[in-house]
Amino acid sequence: MKTEGNLELVKLTKRYGATTAVDAIDLRVPAGTYCCFLGPSGCGKSSTMRMIAGHESVSAGDIILGADNVTDRAPAQRGTAMMFQSYALFPHLTVLDNVAFSLKMKGVGRTERVRKARAVMELVDLIPFESRMPAQLSGGQQQRVALARALVTDPGILLLDEPLSALDPFLRLRVRTELKRLQRELGISFLHVTHGQDEAMALADLVVIMKDGRIEQAGTPQDVFHRPATGFVARFMGGHNVLTLDGRTVSVRADRIRMGPGAADMRAMTGEVRGVEYAGAHVTLVIHAGEAGEITAVIPEEQFYAEPAELGQTRAIHWSRGDEFTLQAA
Ligand code: ADP
Repeated sequence: MKTEGNLELVKLTKRYGATTAVDAIDLRVPAGTYCCFLGPSGCGKSSTMRMIAGHESVSAGDIILGADNVTDRAPAQRGTAMMFQSYALFPHLTVLDNVAFSLKMKGVGRTERVRKARAVMELVDLIPFESRMPAQLSGGQQQRVALARALVTDPGILLLDEPLSALDPFLRLRVRTELKRLQRELGISFLHVTHGQDEAMALADLVVIMKDGRIEQAGTPQDVFHRPATGFVARFMGGHNVLTLDGRTVSVRADRIRMGPGAADMRAMTGEVRGVEYAGAHVTLVIHAGEAGEITAVIPEEQFYAEPAELGQTRAIHWSRGDEFTLQAA
């Protein structure tokens, strides 16, 4: 039962006793979107996903999928599928039977089950492993079984709760690329919970940044990185300084800051060098600039080595005023 179309959350709320985990959020995810939910632990990402999947009841508000209000439908009746962080495979079933399991529950005949299961297993390169038991698979392969098992129901939306967190860094990168390819190939929406901003930037068409049960900002990776709405988003995405200048709160990208006094119309400050970190192609400097506080500057290595800064020195930094971006809130 595939529900095509846009996903809309309308004042969606989840309360656990006195805790409001998700606080009346509104969000529209167009069909075929790779959407990443990002935010610190406890901000309500998983609760939001579980409500969309139907694994958690909704305290208030609505979940609209295409033309249907699915708020109170059972998980299998809403056109979504969820891949869990712990892959939750059946240890006593082969890969093929794991993948085909939900079809069996629906009463689909053996021949049709195998045909459909093989079709999704092919998508994720599992055919060579179809007769193995889960214990005979690597972590990455087990994850592909979990993925195939979710996709076999032909969902309109696939929900993934921190799907890469159990993988080693090398595999994480590979699976990340694979997920993106799969989403494009299937043309359905993926909703992917992560707490890594690099993961969200790499994958998402739409990044949703949550804080304390609310959506702080939703936009393209470029939007949230170049035009952060709040100081929280700017800090969370990284690579920004959040400063109070001329009585307003602004963000300035760390890689837009340069050493030296700069031209007359530029913003210039001096301060004590509190940190120097070498990172290959660039050097990260931390300057304590009086009332402005600590400012992080990412300096290309050639520029840094032309006049290297050392801890404890007093040095000037500058940036163009055009690189100051006014934030709506601290
Ligand atoms: P995230 O996925 O962003 O880490 P969660 O949605 O898991 O956030 O949790 C949001 C808030 O709701 C947290 O304060 C958490 O402690 C609380 N919470 C989550 N699940 C439950 C539950 N089953 N019972 C009570 N509180 C919960």
